[in-house]
Amino acid sequence: MIKSNLGYFSKIEPFGTVDGPGVRTVFFLAGCPLRCLYCHNPETWAYQNGNSLTGDEVLKMVKRYQSYYGKDGGVTFSGGEPLAQSEFLIETCSLLRSNGIHVALDTSGVGNPLYHEKVLNQVDLVIYDLKAADSDLYRRITSQPIDPTEVFLSTLQRVGTPIWIRQVIVPKINDTPENLEATAQKIATLKNVVKVELLPYHTMGKAKYDKLHIAYPLEDTPAMDLELCKRLNESLILRIEEIRNTNR
Ligand code: SF4
Repeated sequence: MIKSNLGYFSKIEPFGTVDGPGVRTVFFLAGCPLRCLYCHNPETWAYQNGNSLTGDEVLKMVKRYQSYYGKDGGVTFSGGEPLAQSEFLIETCSLLRSNGIHVALDTSGVGNPLYHEKVLNQVDLVIYDLKAADSDLYRRITSQPIDPTEVFLSTLQRVGTPIWIRQVIVPKINDTPENLEATAQKIATLKNVVKVELLPYHTMGKAKYDKLHIAYPLEDTPAMDLELCKRLNESLILRIEEIRNTNR
């Protein structure tokens, strides 16, 4: 956990369109405790790596882009794992929202639990990366135990922030009926889910590993078939509805 009123960023995307609703400025914060097999941003793993900004500087930058956000857009904090910089997030998100800017947090839910509620009180939307519902598969994918993200999820449920759920689907690792059923069962228990999205694994991150001299963990795994991923997404959404209707 970095204690600072400075935020460390690996990248800033002024006009992103995939990390939350509308046009958004996306701040990719530096530092991540996970090592997902499919991570395509290994350059974001190191803490305090990259440029730093204060909350006021973030606001100043965002104000330049604000007229492009329209009624749906805003700012997204992604990573890395933004919860690694929770103190900075609390201060900066509060500043942005008091200036009428919609704030989304794209997170795997791994950080110091002491800050979770305070962070969540300052964001309008959580884009939650559900790595896996099953603890063994979670560890296989991330190299870490599932418990920290479960703690975050329970706070998220208590606070009641709207949630987009995302999961990267990798051939032969989690494109299985078992994972999709476990994922459906998990999501069906969650409140405030407004969107569920399966993202196809791609191999575009490999060049970054080569550049950083890190062995690429999915050397022999092909990219996920886009059409198949779309069909799995549709089936997942139907299955979640089915489970919810049965439990009603
Ligand atoms: S949580 Fe995100 S940044 Fe961290 S290793 Fe996983 S995919 Fe990469």
